[in-house]
Amino acid sequence: MLKTAVVNLGCPKNEVDAEKLVYLLLKDGFQLLAEPDEAEIIIVNTCAFIQPAVEEAINTILYLAGFKNEGCCSILVVAGCLPQRYGITISQEIPEIDLLFGTADFHKIPAAIKKFLISPRPGKTICEISSPDYSELHTVPQQITPPLAYSYLKISEGCNNRCSYCMIPSIKGFQQSVPLETLTMQAQHMVDAGVQEINLVAQDITAYGNDLTEKPKLTDLLKALSRIPSLGRLRLLYAYSHRITTELIDLIAQESKICSYVDIPIQHISDPVLAAMGRHDSSKDICRTLESMKKKIPDLFLRSTVIVGFPGESEEDFSKLLNFVAEGFFDFLGAFSYWPEEGSRAAQFSQQIPTPLKEDRLQAILEVQQSITEKRLRAEIGRTRKVLIEGLSQESDLLLQGRTAFQAPEIDGLTYITEGDAEPGTIVDVEIHDCHEFDLFARIK
Ligand code: SF4
Repeated sequence: MLKTAVVNLGCPKNEVDAEKLVYLLLKDGFQLLAEPDEAEIIIVNTCAFIQPAVEEAINTILYLAGFKNEGCCSILVVAGCLPQRYGITISQEIPEIDLLFGTADFHKIPAAIKKFLISPRPGKTICEISSPDYSELHTVPQQITPPLAYSYLKISEGCNNRCSYCMIPSIKGFQQSVPLETLTMQAQHMVDAGVQEINLVAQDITAYGNDLTEKPKLTDLLKALSRIPSLGRLRLLYAYSHRITTELIDLIAQESKICSYVDIPIQHISDPVLAAMGRHDSSKDICRTLESMKKKIPDLFLRSTVIVGFPGESEEDFSKLLNFVAEGFFDFLGAFSYWPEEGSRAAQFSQQIPTPLKEDRLQAILEVQQSITEKRLRAEIGRTRKVLIEGLSQESDLLLQGRTAFQAPEIDGLTYITEGDAEPGTIVDVEIHDCHEFDLFARIK
């Protein structure tokens, strides 16, 4: 049994790939360790869509390469976005790397490691980086890892949009959706393993199925998943506002299993900036969609993402964005200052904004949003909510932790249970009695 450790970096979509890899390794007789220090084989799944992520990946690989010199590690494997973006040059920089795999090549890893063990090629890196065809990887189930309460379901990989600041399409390739039947089986597999909440992820979940022959829509998928008897709830992450249909809005409003919570990255609200970003929607489209959702979906919570300091963003553009955020459409907001990513079209644009001004604009947005989010959470005090219990809190083992339907995993706050007890993986009624910053405190009813 080859002692193996998988180190995962990046977004929930990467987490899904790492869980598929773990499933294949276990099936192939590898022994999985939680920590790399005693592992004979270390596999790191990387993210590389922006320079800070590239640096994090390289630092992690260098740290793990240390286990080849001092520890038990005999084989170092690097997979995912970094090899897909930079190819063999990675191992020329870091010669300790033995095998490299692209974003669609995870299913080849177990066999390639065994082959490498039989005929090692010291100093020569094996490179399996294909132009992304995810059809095989799509069929691989995920090894559901604790806390079992929730999981991510990646409904497609790649992206057909061409936002001018983004390198993801050039790394992950064109959109490739997972067939609806495969997703329904994978969701059933998760629920059988104890998962109560499934978070749908992709680069753009609202484009789901438009690359498949039968053209299933996101609403078709949601209806199929909602029919899984013991599934507690479904959450929509990474929706693109211009593809949010009336049918989708109505389904979210009617289907109790679908959380009244949607993550819709709008990136900006000023039309000249949206156009320069290569976004498909105008400020009018965005407002129309958000107003219709707020009107039709009871108790709706919205999350979004915006970029400030995009090349050419004038004072007027920025104040339009600041005023829009101040209107309080979004309960939760991620804000980032623009990064001129090497290889992206926007990095060549003129009128790049000086960093100090970008930082000032970012702070202004974050301050406005913080008071909106805190006000929205304070309004929860005294309310009864359904909370998915995840288990003992990492903060203190005196408290259980969980999440309401409007708290997405890993990005929003948590709900701490101060009174009452419940099993992990169960959904219970609680009364919210306090909040602190982005977290809530509740007692089980
Ligand atoms: S929708 Fe735009 S930002 Fe998102 S992955 Fe696709 S190209 Fe990148």
